[in-house]
Amino acid sequence: LSAPITLEGRVVEGFGRGSAQMGVPTANIEPGALKDRLEGLPLGVYFGWAQLDAGPDEPEKDSQVHKMAMNVGRRPSIEDGTDMTVEVHILHGFRASNFRGKHLRVIGTGYIRPEMRFSSLEELIARIKSDVGISKAQLDMPEHARAREHRLFTRDQ
Ligand code: ADP
Ligand code: MG
Repeated sequence: LSAPITLEGRVVEGFGRGSAQMGVPTANIEPGALKDRLEGLPLGVYFGWAQLDAGPDEPEKDSQVHKMAMNVGRRPSIEDGTDMTVEVHILHGFRASNFRGKHLRVIGTGYIRPEMRFSSLEELIARIKSDVGISKAQLDMPEHARAREHRLFTRDQ
């Protein structure tokens, strides 16, 4: 990416398929907060950094910045996927596994691939796993690692 993409908003409920069917939970950012931010943005899979606001019920005060992989799109592989969605898989094992309602900030620093249609769920899952691997490795590279220090994550919220 020529410039990092910053997005933020509340985590809302998606279709509940990330965890159940794919083993990769994806937190959906509320669509209302994203509208104009998504204009002109290529659909597809990005990687970058994510930060979740700590909540009162969170034992681990988590305002840490974690690696993430994110899908921006219309989810063409899922039959009823027609709306624009931003879905973020955070590469961290959270102790409190439900953070819906919390505020999520993300910075996309790299783009992996456009949206594509997969002929089977198995293929989609395999591709997602590979996207996560790519994200993990790329984010160790200095040009992507430094976005972790972005002021989006450090300014007074
Ligand atoms: P939904 O369809 O509601 O998005 P998912 O099965 O995709 O459901 O699971 C996403 C939810 O899982 C998130 O909203 C969040 O509360 C929880 N979650 C737990 N760990 C993670 C993680 N590492 N990355 C993203 N979401 C996570
Ligand atoms: Mg999801």
